[in-house]
Amino acid sequence: MSQTFFGKVAVANLYIGMIATSPPPTTTRRPVSSEPATPHPPDPAALADALRRVWGYESFRPLQKEAMGRVLHGRDSVVVLPTGGGKSLCFQAPALCLHGMALVVSPLISLMKDQVDALRANGVEAACLNSALAPEERRRVGDQIRRGELKLLYIAPERLLSPGVLDGLARIRVSLVAIDEAHCISAWGHDFRPEYRELRVLRDRFPDVGVHAYTATATEAVRQDIAAQLGLRDPAILVGPFDRPNLRYTVQRSRNRFAQVCEVTDRHPGESGIVYCISRREVERMAAALSDRGLQARPYHAGLSDEERHRNQDAFIRDEARIIVATVAFGMGIDKPDVRYVVHAGLPKSLENFQQESGRAGRDGLPAECCLFWGGGDLFTWRRIIGRSEGDAQEGALRALQAMEAFATSVTCRHQALVEHFGQAWTRASCEACDVCLDTLDLVAEPLILGQKILSCVARLNQRFGADYTAKVLAGSREARILDAGHDQLSTYGLLGDDRPAAIRGWIEQLADQGFLARSDDEYKVLRITPEGRRLLKGEVAPRLLQPPRRGARRPRAASDADAMEGVDPGLFEHLRALRAREAAARNVPAYVVFGDAALLDMARRRPTSPDAFLRVHGVGERKVQDFSDLFTGAIREYCQDHGIETDEEPAPRGEPRPVPMTAPQAFPYFREGRSVEEVAGRLGRAVSTTRGYLDHFIRHERVTDPSPWVDAATVTRIERACEEVGADRLSPIREFLGDETDYNLIRIVASCWRNRRGGP
Ligand code: ADP
Repeated sequence: MSQTFFGKVAVANLYIGMIATSPPPTTTRRPVSSEPATPHPPDPAALADALRRVWGYESFRPLQKEAMGRVLHGRDSVVVLPTGGGKSLCFQAPALCLHGMALVVSPLISLMKDQVDALRANGVEAACLNSALAPEERRRVGDQIRRGELKLLYIAPERLLSPGVLDGLARIRVSLVAIDEAHCISAWGHDFRPEYRELRVLRDRFPDVGVHAYTATATEAVRQDIAAQLGLRDPAILVGPFDRPNLRYTVQRSRNRFAQVCEVTDRHPGESGIVYCISRREVERMAAALSDRGLQARPYHAGLSDEERHRNQDAFIRDEARIIVATVAFGMGIDKPDVRYVVHAGLPKSLENFQQESGRAGRDGLPAECCLFWGGGDLFTWRRIIGRSEGDAQEGALRALQAMEAFATSVTCRHQALVEHFGQAWTRASCEACDVCLDTLDLVAEPLILGQKILSCVARLNQRFGADYTAKVLAGSREARILDAGHDQLSTYGLLGDDRPAAIRGWIEQLADQGFLARSDDEYKVLRITPEGRRLLKGEVAPRLLQPPRRGARRPRAASDADAMEGVDPGLFEHLRALRAREAAARNVPAYVVFGDAALLDMARRRPTSPDAFLRVHGVGERKVQDFSDLFTGAIREYCQDHGIETDEEPAPRGEPRPVPMTAPQAFPYFREGRSVEEVAGRLGRAVSTTRGYLDHFIRHERVTDPSPWVDAATVTRIERACEEVGADRLSPIREFLGDETDYNLIRIVASCWRNRRGGP
């Protein structure tokens, strides 16, 4: 474990200060686990206090309060929350409010280490015990346990069950037992680990404390199995909402996968992302191609040596590599909160896989996108792989693949489809965060007629040709082989002459995916009309046909991004990110252990210059004020002075517009006359930089659409073109797209006007 932690931690003080209703921990007598862990359950208000003081969070996420309540009262529970739902806090916060040390069983060493790093950065005494520790470190942790210094101990199942360890733990006061990734205990789950079965012994060894199981993926049967296997006593089964509103889903047929992946990475310069491919070979190729493009991409798959896999994973977690290109082998135990996009460059084999893998985006609750690019070839690959298995397994895998395919070809809201697949009701009208709801799907207006035209052509070609050839005949191609065969004489020749052959090919694939056409199994992939296809020709059923999105069409970057950036100074945000990276490197921890993106965004919004104001930042607890307030508030003060930005703002509650400062409206009449920033500054006797801020308020407040009084025409054109390409919600991608040092102030003016014109936020 890393030795370069933040200085001495002070959890004992936090603990005593926080729990007014419970007595301070005894120092004269070593507590034993046969005593009740909490004679009087602590006041639940202590949880909210811990959340605020230790983590800097203002409110609970859905189900957290209920789950924490169970822990405080020592009642067993099984808690199911989606990835990023905040499971860890469900046991970490109560652990601080209870006497003794929480025992957290976790299967992955890397995950343990990250969680312990993050806890210690927040001033919580935590440690881990696993096979990666050197003997002297293990001894040190043992001493801490014996002295009752730890509030949380993370431990691997093998270590916990090795001789003497349970006996040793039974001699100290244990406050609760938490089992992370609990689906590993069930043979019906997707990641069964036999050693987890033996954890049943915990229920008997710690009879007076609650045992709690946490997982992101568990069907009803798996939940019951977890409870039964652990021997839980009358457990509460708590299932949180599965929807992840901050994730935006897009599904597209693959045209050129690499180009499509690059479109996504281009939208996220300098941000972390995961690209999933089906095969190891594709992983290697994609990682190499992205690296050739100057992106820091590393491969990850089961064919690499353990050492290389760890190195690449570590580089990703520490932001030394921005992109990890991986097979499904990657992800379990990665709780990096700031993954801004997950791309599937190929169809996953099930919706369970898709949900879990794409769910690794946006754990911090900030907007993130999940893109799926797929083609008929992926289905073929999976069917071949599934064909090697037998009996029930094969049947189940084929059913899972069909559900995945139906999701990819459907035109219902992606959030709704996922939530309903996992057995929860969908109650919202629109998610506002998927390609279907944001209307970025180009649905063909008359799919029946189009489908009939295509199937007629297949019939006229006597069902003897493949998709490519058929598409070219429909497009009216002058290719020699078509003319030689006399197919230019067919009544369907050139019937879709206004459409590109690639688009026609896409429709043929969709018709095949929806069962109206079948393809021969040989290399020619000859098209044949199925019985369902004949019904289509008779007009009894209609297909759903999508067109490839037009360039520059509205992308699902949507409102949530603009919300996250509301009031944030983008230049300051980048400045703080750089500062965070330096601090993280100096302390040898991942950047998010210092501060998450949500905290940095809030800093760049509030721009605090005092410790008190710093404590009000989301994600800043008391310990981080102690460790970082001087450094960060100093950097903020300096940056704001240099750039003429106001400090110590109190942002409006979410959803409400940013208030206009009292002094700004006096500048509005001048701006209405089209006067320049410098001129207005002179007239009002204010700094140019302050006046720039007034202009920003003026443009938002009056919903100005024309930037020409303040930015020259050529620059406006360039910035607007960038807005068309990368959207106008965030300024840094625009600047990145422009590829030069264009002044952020000019970008802000043009982007605000552009958004006002589009009726955006
Ligand atoms: P899970 O284990 O369920 O995937 P985590 O426990 O890793 O999720 O939490 C995901 C992220 O959300 C972490 O960065 C965590 O600090 C943050 N988080 C958890 N609870 C809250 C909360 N109540 N308010 C704000 N952020 C939270």
